[in-house]
Amino acid sequence: MMTDERWNAIVNCDAAYDGQFYYGVTTTGIFCRPSCKSRSPLPGHVRLFESAADALADRFRPCKRCKPDGMRLPDEEWAAAIKEVIEARYQEPLTLPVLAELMHVSPYHMHRTFKRMTGESPAARLSRTRITAAKQLLRTSALPVREIAAQVGFPNAAHFATVFQKAEGCSPTAYRQQQ
Ligand SMILES: [Zn+2]
Repeated sequence: MMTDERWNAIVNCDAAYDGQFYYGVTTTGIFCRPSCKSRSPLPGHVRLFESAADALADRFRPCKRCKPDGMRLPDEEWAAAIKEVIEARYQEPLTLPVLAELMHVSPYHMHRTFKRMTGESPAARLSRTRITAAKQLLRTSALPVREIAAQVGFPNAAHFATVFQKAEGCSPTAYRQQQ
């Protein structure tokens, strides 16, 4: 049960509550100890657990930063978690620092580990996911390119056009005309 006391413990990263409960963040599927120094989650995205085992049973993964109960998440699983977050949130103006913060690690650590596990950098993965979604919209909708750019996470349409050209060897408009 969430109480004011527990919420305060999370916001203040209060180590006195470690071991008493754990909290998972539904948007990332990661769970933490109250003392974790990761950014405070939104209250609506928090789920509480009485034990780390309960969190695992609910398919949450242990945080790499605070290592609840000393648990270490295998790198393969962690890379899979990053892929899931990219799939779920590429439409947002998600940047690498934001993604790293969500995954509770430094951007450098995320880049290095993800690349080692998948052969691709997180930036390349995010870009590829966005371009794939954009191609689908270009083929199947009549939406203006500018709007498609925004829908796949490029608030700046010119930037989208540049990334698209580099990935596909043609402009978004030319790609649409070839279909
Ligand atoms: Zn944590």
